[in-house]
This record gives sequence, structure tokens and C-alpha cells, in this order.
Amino acid sequence: MSLEQLEALLLVQERDIALDQLRHRREALPERAELTARAADLRTQDATRADVRERHRVVLAEERRIDDEARAIGERADDANEKLYSGTIQSPRELQAMQADIEMLRRRRSDLEDEELEVMEQREALDAELSALDGSIDALWARVTELQSTIASAEAEIDGEIGREQQERAVLAQPIVESLLRDYERRRAQNRGAGAARLVGSTCQACHLTIPSTEAEHIRRAAGAEIAYCDNCAAILVP
Ligand SMILES: [Zn+2]
Repeated sequence: MSLEQLEALLLVQERDIALDQLRHRREALPERAELTARAADLRTQDATRADVRERHRVVLAEERRIDDEARAIGERADDANEKLYSGTIQSPRELQAMQADIEMLRRRRSDLEDEELEVMEQREALDAELSALDGSIDALWARVTELQSTIASAEAEIDGEIGREQQERAVLAQPIVESLLRDYERRRAQNRGAGAARLVGSTCQACHLTIPSTEAEHIRRAAGAEIAYCDNCAAILVP
């Protein structure tokens, strides 16, 4: 081992820190949180729309049923009225009974028409609700699509930076012997980020704790000929 290799280790670590930050930035893109929220809104509104559509279907069927019935009763009244004035019925009692029937049918039709009007108002309110939901769902879809494309381009940009950092790291790691590089990587993984640390005086710059000054002096004199580790955080110490 040599001091140059230990120095290279610190440079590799700088690139590794930059890579961690890039990966974190990729994961924590603010658009991701908004996308999750908008997608949830979309699911909720889709479910609401399905529910409103079902209510609309029921009310519309009721409206049609009442309309058909009113129409049929109206036709019956018209037929009876025609018969009443056709002169085919002579008996005054029969004529009177028929007139009463016609009045009854017309009242029934008028009641049905009132009922139909009420149901129509309900249906129109549901029409408005559906059209508002359609608008809102369309807008949500547009936002979701926009967010997906923003995320995709941010990812592509970050991936490009990650690629460049990795290339730089590979170049910096070239002079380091494989066993030392693996040792550093293992320590870095176990130590939440610090695989190697500069030794300043008797202070490790990774954990900022001190080692005995005689030990620090020994490490400085060895000048990379042997590998030393911080007693506290286990980072490879670079004199
Ligand atoms: Zn340390």
C-alpha cells in the first residue's frame, strides 16, 4: 500500500458521496409525492363517478318509466274522449261514467307529470355532477401525465450525471489495489457513508473523535505502508 492509494481512496469516496446524493435526489423528486397524491385522487374520483353513474342510471330509468306510463294514460284518455264525442254511446249514465273515467285518467296523468318533473330535476342534478367529475378527472389525468413526463426527464438527467460520476470514480479507483478498495467499500457500507477518513492531528475526520496521539504519530510515520483504522468508526485512516 502507499499514501497515493490512500489519497485516491478519499477521492473515490467524494465520488461515492456525490453518487449517494444523486440517487437520493432521484428517489426524492418532489413530483413523485405529487404523482402519488394525484393518482390517489384519481382513484377516489373514478369510484365516485362510478357511483354517480349508477344513481343516474336508476333515476333515468325511473324517469322513462313514469314518462311511458303518463303517455299511455294520456292515450287512454284521448281514446275515451274520442269515443265520448263519437255519438256511438247513447246512454246518459254510460256517458257520465265515461266522462268520470276520462277525468280520473287526466288527473292521474297530471300527477305522473309532476312526479316526472321531480325525477327529472334529480336526473339533471346528477348530469351536472357527472359533467363536473368528468372535467375534474380529465384535469387530473392531464396533471398525472405531465408529472410522469417531468419525472422521466428528471430521471434521465440524473441518470446521465450518475453515469458520469461512475466513470470518474472508475478512473480514480484504478490505482487502488482491489483488496483495499473492497475493504473501503465494506467499511463504507457498514459505517453509513465513511469508509475512509483523513486523520488531522489525532482526530478522525469521519467521526470527529480522537485516537491516542502515539497511535496517530505511528500512522503518520507509516505513511500508508500499513493500513490503520479509526478505533471509533472503523474508517480507514489517511494520514
Ligand atoms: Zn472515526
